[in-house]
Amino acid sequence: MSTQKRLQLKGPNPISIPRCLPLPTPLQNSIQGLCDVERLKFLGHGSEGIVYKVLQRKSCSYYALKVVHRKAGSTEKIMREVEIMKKIHSSRIVQFEGAFEEGGNINFLLEYMDGGSLHSLLKLNKRMAVSFLARVARHVLEGLEYLQSENIVHRDIKPSNLLINLNPLQIKIADFGVSTIVSELACDIYNSSAGTCAYMSPERLNPYIYDGAPYDDYYYGGDIWSLGVTLMECYVGHHPFLPPDQNIDLATLMCAICFEDSPTLPPAASTEFYNFIECCLKKDVRRRGTASQLLNHPFIVNNMAKEKFL
Ligand code: ATP
Ligand code: MG
Repeated sequence: MSTQKRLQLKGPNPISIPRCLPLPTPLQNSIQGLCDVERLKFLGHGSEGIVYKVLQRKSCSYYALKVVHRKAGSTEKIMREVEIMKKIHSSRIVQFEGAFEEGGNINFLLEYMDGGSLHSLLKLNKRMAVSFLARVARHVLEGLEYLQSENIVHRDIKPSNLLINLNPLQIKIADFGVSTIVSELACDIYNSSAGTCAYMSPERLNPYIYDGAPYDDYYYGGDIWSLGVTLMECYVGHHPFLPPDQNIDLATLMCAICFEDSPTLPPAASTEFYNFIECCLKKDVRRRGTASQLLNHPFIVNNMAKEKFL
């Protein structure tokens, strides 16, 4: 690696309050059931549910409705997700508006994000500009900094969980299905290894990686790793631990994440971006940048200055 690529991470960060403004608590939504909304179109589906764009008849406002089938034994997990989402009010997080049960399903009413997800952009083979990725990084880091201030780890940062609002251009974190409050991690039997393996950090795939010592003080670092993998994937167009066009084989991928060196950006990338990704993908979580430190990284700070002149 060229010495030009070795930038030092600034820290510790003097700012201790989250930089994104907390939103006011949402009005307790008046939607009581499916008859209060008109289903307009299918937005996507994931492992747990189907998401639709809906119109609330009374207010004529658009929302996203995530319909999750209630399986035996899933109640506690769903209640946990609702409890976490109710706590969160931030302009960097997709707002939860309420939930109701109907027809054996739990319906989550969410802020509607009209630009889709980073995953949908990737599927369109859209090359993402570095300036856009710097904005993604800043917005997600601000969201993670806020979550950390609430002692919440997301644990499933990946392209399909980062949603885009077009006007103004904002990226927000979605999907708290496997998130947890740090103080509850020890008894988190439902979710302790949850999340999407392809974006998981080495210490999450193998918690005893550090001479048998668990990584208790570094829970939040897992989300930073996942952000680094996501940004790199959006830049190079394929999962960074796999060659282009290779399907994801989870066993190979997990071995690569745990035992190989972290990937780096191609030499054509700017020094700042290259170093930013290096800071996110430090295999040793104790050396990885924190959200607050990375918000002060030149990749973020310099791009923010440019955004102001646009
Ligand atoms: P996983 O099951 O691993 O979470 P996923 O993230 O793709 O997969 P969902 O969270 O259920 O699954 O979301 C499915 C898709 O629906 C998302 O990828 C996104 O394209 C769309 N979507 C989800 N929430 C919203 C929203 N609030 N506004 C607009 N589109 C959304
Ligand atoms: Mg999701």
